[in-house]
Amino acid sequence: MVLTLVEHEDGEVDDVSLQTLALARDVAEQSGESLDAIAFGSDAEAIAEAVGAHGVETLQIVDDDALADYAPEAYGRAVAQCAEELGTEAVIAPGTDRGAETLAHAAAKLDVTMAAEVTAVEVGDAYELTRQRWGGTLIEHSKLTADTNVLTVAANEVSASETDGGAAAVEAFAPDVDDGDLRVRLAEVEESDVEGVPLGEARVVVSGGRGTDGDFSELEELVERVPNAALGSSRAAVNEGWRPHDDQIGQTGAKIAPEIYIPCGISGAVQHMVGCKGAENILAINTDPEAAIIQKADYAVIADLHEVAPAIAEELEARGHAE
Ligand SMILES: Cc1cc2nc3c(=O)[nH]c(=O)nc-3n(C[C@H](O)[C@H](O)[C@H](O)COP(=O)(O)OP(=O)(O)OC[C@H]3O[C@@H](n4cnc5c(N)ncnc54)[C@H](O)[C@@H]3O)c2cc1C
Repeated sequence: MVLTLVEHEDGEVDDVSLQTLALARDVAEQSGESLDAIAFGSDAEAIAEAVGAHGVETLQIVDDDALADYAPEAYGRAVAQCAEELGTEAVIAPGTDRGAETLAHAAAKLDVTMAAEVTAVEVGDAYELTRQRWGGTLIEHSKLTADTNVLTVAANEVSASETDGGAAAVEAFAPDVDDGDLRVRLAEVEESDVEGVPLGEARVVVSGGRGTDGDFSELEELVERVPNAALGSSRAAVNEGWRPHDDQIGQTGAKIAPEIYIPCGISGAVQHMVGCKGAENILAINTDPEAAIIQKADYAVIADLHEVAPAIAEELEARGHAE
């Protein structure tokens, strides 16, 4: 049997979990095994139909007050115990922050290796994996051989696909967790106070890096003039305390896919570029013609961003619209 961790909220299965079920189902079919899922929370039963439509036969539900809030080590313990009790051939989780953290703990408890960011599996004597490294800039082929193969699926790299299956059967799974497993747990959720268009949904993204020298006022004005635009930043600008982490684009920040991305005063480090590789066009504004971003951009203006950004905003104003 192949056991898949499924994340959900308000009765809805998370998109990356549905993608993960598609890869897990492929693994199960290649191995001639059934596909089961494990989900946490008193409301997990509400997803039985949705996961059933993605090939899950049985949904194991962990409904335990101590695990009502996310607790990585305890969740990992529960997944590991479930895998051991059911004698699973593989444990697969979505490559989200929580999916990866939970599975790393589960793998440690099972005393096996975990492979992260997998995009395809060929099942033979070993699992032949294709997986992403360094934010997707390197594709690795590797083998995983263990009694239980533990892996996460890279987000947004595999398409979710439905079957004609009905609702999954539901079973309760009661893990045995102790206080030690609950040392780290979710204490509080703070809503982000960032307003405007979310970075991931914006049609135009203007962002600033260390080259702004901390002055984002012209970039903010430009964003205000363009419909469906959002402001982003490099990690250097976040580290300087100029922008909140929510604005960061890159390997350890947001992944964006706008029609046009306008990085201003950003050098184009690989960790930044993996966050904007989905952009259709890149217009770089940078004083250094040798900056890496110039090679990667579709268009470039070699000039001071503090002059170019207001000039673009003025031109938009003069034209009376910004379509
Ligand atoms: C594990 C890891 C994860 C990381 N994750 C991320 C990530 O998610 N996102 C990210 O962005 N970085 C990330 N980084 C950091 C990354 O490696 C770079 O250090 C960072 O992106 C650099 O930011 P920057 O381009 O703003 O600054 P710099 O590299 O200092 O570049 C500043 C640029 O501004 C230009 N400039 C200066 N003045 C002006 C001006 N007046 N007008 C126009 N141009 C000007 C300069 O020519 C230069 O090209 C990560 C690093 C590591 C090790």
